[in-house]
Amino acid sequence: MPTYEYKCTACGRRFEQRQAITEAPLKDCPECKGRLRRLVSGR
Ligand SMILES: [Zn+2]
Repeated sequence: MPTYEYKCTACGRRFEQRQAITEAPLKDCPECKGRLRRLVSGR
């Protein structure tokens, strides 16, 4: 299962999330509900 790195464009929080490739990407920051950007890592 790949690990995706997300960064919030609003508060700058970064975190990693393991997700199946078929899983929908996260869109909202768990902290501030801001928009998340998914950083490609480990590819
Ligand atoms: Zn945020």
